[in-house]
Amino acid sequence: MNNQVITVKQLNKHFENNHALKSVDLSVQQSEMVALLGPSGSGKSTLLRHLNGLVSSDKNSKGYIEVLGMPVQRDGKFCNTVRKSRSQTGYIFQQFNLVSRLSVLQNVLIGALSATPSWRSLTGRFTFEQKRQALAALKRVGLEQFALQRVSTLSGGQQQRVAIARALMQRAKIILADEPIASLDPESSRIVMEILTDINKQEGIAVVVTLHQVDYAKRYCPRVVALKLGEVFYDGPSEQLNEAKLAALYGSQAQLTT
Ligand code: ADP
Ligand code: MG
Repeated sequence: MNNQVITVKQLNKHFENNHALKSVDLSVQQSEMVALLGPSGSGKSTLLRHLNGLVSSDKNSKGYIEVLGMPVQRDGKFCNTVRKSRSQTGYIFQQFNLVSRLSVLQNVLIGALSATPSWRSLTGRFTFEQKRQALAALKRVGLEQFALQRVSTLSGGQQQRVAIARALMQRAKIILADEPIASLDPESSRIVMEILTDINKQEGIAVVVTLHQVDYAKRYCPRVVALKLGEVFYDGPSEQLNEAKLAALYGSQAQLTT
């Protein structure tokens, strides 16, 4: 079986005159946990959005993206399978993107909507089995005792764990996390990164996570892909990302550490 879950070939993206992604190639295997690094504006978020079919690449540039064996876009045009691959991809944002007026459990249950859309879930009624799964997902991130609380009463770190539980509920095979710890304190950051590591190892969910703290990448992600001015500047073991390479990557931009 082919275990490659992400294939990006010759991806180019212009925002008017700004060449934000320059012939990016990327392959990710199912078992991997990859940190996406690079200075602010280097194209990390733009790349992740392409993977989830939220942005289309340049027309007539022969760019190609495939996720979970399904073409997402080809030459700037979305493919029919984009919805299906998106439904199996959990997306985690810096600002959590939860529904603040709903309970923790209801927010996790939202993950079931993209996994198995049905008339039942559209009317907001979930099956007993779905509720059981949502509670199990909450337990997985250590938050089952908060299930019935409004999600807005939780701390930032806890809310990010709810977002991870929602991805588990979605039965995501890949998690794309865009700066998931950028708004969190060091302790919450550590917990979130440990949960991501754990589900990568236990559930075999591939994780691609953008980080602006290099030391978190080194601690939790065996592989780093670094972008600089829209180009892949480094792709390899995080332990080989030495001071000289980091200085060349970040230049004079302050490199944030914990
Ligand atoms: P990063 O996530 O690494 O900070 P981004 O992917 O957000 O970088 O941005 C890469 C480049 O693309 C930047 O120059 C940014 O200004 C530009 N960019 C990103 N999104 C848009 C957009 N929707 N419209 C115009 N320019 C954008
Ligand atoms: Mg970004």
